Amino acid sequence: MKKKLFCCSLGCPKNRVDSEIVIAQFVNKGWAVAETSDKADLVILNTCSFINDAREESVNSFFDLHASLKKGAKIAVMGCMPQLYPNLGEMLPEADFIFGVNDLPNIEKIVSAHWEKGYLGKIGQSDFLYTASMERVLTFSPWTAYLKIADGCNNFCSYCSIPYIRGRYRERPLKDILAEAENLIKTGVKEIVVIAQDTTQYGSKTNSSLKQLIRSLNALKGNFRFRVMYLYPSGIDRELLETIRDCKKMHNYLEVPIQHISSTVLKAMNRRYTEQDIYNLIEMIKDVFGEDYLLRTTVISSFPAEKKENHELLKTFIEKGFFDYIGAFKYSKEEFSASFKMRAVPAKTADARFAEIEKAAHESMEKRLERFVGKEVEVLYEGIDPELKVPVGRCWNQAPEIDGITIITNLEDEKEGSCLKCRIVSREGTDFIADILR
Ligand code: SF4
Repeated sequence: MKKKLFCCSLGCPKNRVDSEIVIAQFVNKGWAVAETSDKADLVILNTCSFINDAREESVNSFFDLHASLKKGAKIAVMGCMPQLYPNLGEMLPEADFIFGVNDLPNIEKIVSAHWEKGYLGKIGQSDFLYTASMERVLTFSPWTAYLKIADGCNNFCSYCSIPYIRGRYRERPLKDILAEAENLIKTGVKEIVVIAQDTTQYGSKTNSSLKQLIRSLNALKGNFRFRVMYLYPSGIDRELLETIRDCKKMHNYLEVPIQHISSTVLKAMNRRYTEQDIYNLIEMIKDVFGEDYLLRTTVISSFPAEKKENHELLKTFIEKGFFDYIGAFKYSKEEFSASFKMRAVPAKTADARFAEIEKAAHESMEKRLERFVGKEVEVLYEGIDPELKVPVGRCWNQAPEIDGITIITNLEDEKEGSCLKCRIVSREGTDFIADILR
């Protein structure tokens, strides 16, 4: 009987890609994928350790999965937790295998060689980057694939521990990225989501550029669309925006994490732009796209340097309604980040400020998204939602996992994975309700 693997992937889509590579290693060696952890011979937990909540979730998931193991089954931990805590094996002696990022291309081989005795990875500076020749088993859906073009980061934002976890910035050659994109399209992928810690850095190591990557992806044959996530604000210029506008296979979907609007706070965060730069960027976006774009951002409330007037500035800025989606986060003190030693905003004040920012963000999104009601859109139909029990998909202005979904009202015999011409007839929060146009 085939051995079975269960993989639980926490955190961001970049982690998901790593999990997909690992699953493929086992499937190629004859393993089957188990539906639940209690049916598996090997359970792999791909951890996240971006902030404290994510680390807690990783540890809790580990113990839940460990408790579910059937007799004789083994459990492995990989991803960001071992990178942050190289002695994780001592902290979690129940783990049979601990893998660092650099172990990633060889995990199946290591497991089969060390099945009886287990393995504690030698965790060093992570420099692994996958290539198109490494197969993946897609786990989000057969029609949507993340395409990781780079890993690591050199920006050293003062609140962020990513450069210490994922290592310094490194990127894949354009040719390799295009080869993978072509393979994905051949297997039926309709939506490619380009990701990295900061996609605007792309090309700095390989004598290329994000613009060139976008033009090259746009030139690939096939019925697919793509979007590019994580555009660092000061990495965006007019030429990049015009490239996005003119490349019709790319959605006019701009994810631009500003994190704050106060120049004082931005400086303390070690972000390389000011309040005025953000206003200029928004003007440029409007000038290039007119009304035909979607703008998503993330903001951090209660960063240590944030004074009352900085908080008010951020709230008022959000209320101006520039953004369609806003991910609002409360500052989380990270041991390995530069802001760790800065004096924190008192907890009660931080909670109150965050509640105000969340409210402003919610109201702003509600108003902005209303402009899509009545519009014709193409919806990628993804199937019957297991909880809602209705047909759902996403249109161009909804990125997977972070934005809303589109509920389809009048599905007949359309197949999952079809791109359907629809009209948005109403909105519920960040979700759309749409009719197929026949
Ligand atoms: S750009 Fe800043 S926030 Fe993003 S991964 Fe790099 S250091 Fe972290």
